[in-house]
Amino acid sequence: MATAMKLVKLVSNLGYASRKQVGVMCRAGRVTNAAGVALAADDEVDHADVRVDGERLDPPTGVMLMLNKPLRVTCSHKDPGGVVYDLLPPRFRLRQPPISTVGRLDRDTTGLLLLTDDGALLHRIVSPRSEVRKIYVVDLARDLRGDEAQIFSGGQLRLESESEALEPAVMETVGARQARLTVTEGRYHQVRRMFAATGNHVLALHRSRIGALSLGNLPAGSWRVLDAADIKLIFQPSGDIVDRQAG
Ligand code: URA
Repeated sequence: MATAMKLVKLVSNLGYASRKQVGVMCRAGRVTNAAGVALAADDEVDHADVRVDGERLDPPTGVMLMLNKPLRVTCSHKDPGGVVYDLLPPRFRLRQPPISTVGRLDRDTTGLLLLTDDGALLHRIVSPRSEVRKIYVVDLARDLRGDEAQIFSGGQLRLESESEALEPAVMETVGARQARLTVTEGRYHQVRRMFAATGNHVLALHRSRIGALSLGNLPAGSWRVLDAADIKLIFQPSGDIVDRQAG
């Protein structure tokens, strides 16, 4: 159910402008209701009924986005080489509460990255207890040996400098030098280090799914807002894959 909020707070929290500037925008008649009637900064409004320069507002607080992360951008807030937040509208960086990535992908990993301002949902997705499956397509420098699937599924593999063994992971062979790997954890450089432990080297890494949620036809560098049905897919096993498309 829509909840009313003071217009100045709603619009400034979405990153459109400072509270002072929102007042200026209102006085200039740039902020209206759906019928085009000018609104004042102190008005109590519903998100769905507000227009800025005739446009609907960005998604309200509690948003979850999916980004098809391209190569060479980092999942941090600052990096001279470019960050994932550069791929979103600039005012998204000014939102309160802020939008953060749900876990991280390496600079050289591509594919499905989630971003949200919903801290509770973020923690539910990354919590080991949720056992959310992350599915990666892995291109390797050398042929698979043949024993990798057994090693990864055994629950005994300990990565270098770690004391706790990895949870069992499922590897399927796609080609001599390509595999699909499903993991439920998110340890640092996990997939690259798993294959390094078998004497191989990862040349390219792409996350194709999280649970049963896939990128669909979303181009590299593009993003879209997820709806409740998409979010439900995150917690489903990838066997139930449904390709939901934008729009
Ligand atoms: N494992 C890695 O090694 N890198 C990633 O980006 C994700 C999982």
